[in-house]
Amino acid sequence: MDLVLLGPPGGGKGTQAKRLMEKYGLVQLSTGDMLRAAVASGSAVGKKAKAVMDAGQLVSDDIVIAIIDDRLDAPDTKNGVIFDGFPRTVAQAEALDAMMVRKGRKLDYAIEIRVPDEPIVERITGRFTCAKCGAGYHDKFQQPKAAGVCDSCGGTEFIRRADDNAETVHKRLDAYHAQTAPLLPYYQAKGNYHLVDGTKDIAEVTKDLEKILG
Ligand code: AMP
Repeated sequence: MDLVLLGPPGGGKGTQAKRLMEKYGLVQLSTGDMLRAAVASGSAVGKKAKAVMDAGQLVSDDIVIAIIDDRLDAPDTKNGVIFDGFPRTVAQAEALDAMMVRKGRKLDYAIEIRVPDEPIVERITGRFTCAKCGAGYHDKFQQPKAAGVCDSCGGTEFIRRADDNAETVHKRLDAYHAQTAPLLPYYQAKGNYHLVDGTKDIAEVTKDLEKILG
């Protein structure tokens, strides 16, 4: 089973992808995570992407399409993947369609996790992750149970993304509305589109997704 999670930055795509992975035996393919890894490694792609990401704009279609094309050839994707943060433009969606046909795969679901702009800034500027295992937390909504210690792995170092500041969030939202929102009618026209209300609690949203995925 392959699915796409659509929705604004900070809308919960990554959080929900992690919760669905285990139950359905899927792997999360987050182009944002892959690009951050490229930036951290200092690769040619990372060098190109860094300034664009820091400015809250979209990295070129060619780069992300090539990353996904490559990643889908790895054996761990065989059972199915959750595309998180990809596609983000109609050109990427069209490239994904062609790629899926070429690789003998089928996109079973395109699910929009809908959240209006207002709560996004608070959601994004408060979030942080465990440096060791990547578990996600939030200053206001989801503090670790013991202060400064990761619930999942006991790690004590936490990181915040360079682009998770109020100024960049507004630019990322602008990019979402201008370049990514046109994907919604694109998938609605295909018939595999579903909508969930992303303003609910994390666990409620997971339940709604599970109702769709069965
Ligand atoms: P994310 O972690 O999904 O919020 O992505 C962080 C940043 O990486 C975005 O603001 C973009 O600069 C870049 N990025 C991630 N995925 C894509 C994509 N599919 N197309 C273009 N840029 C992307």
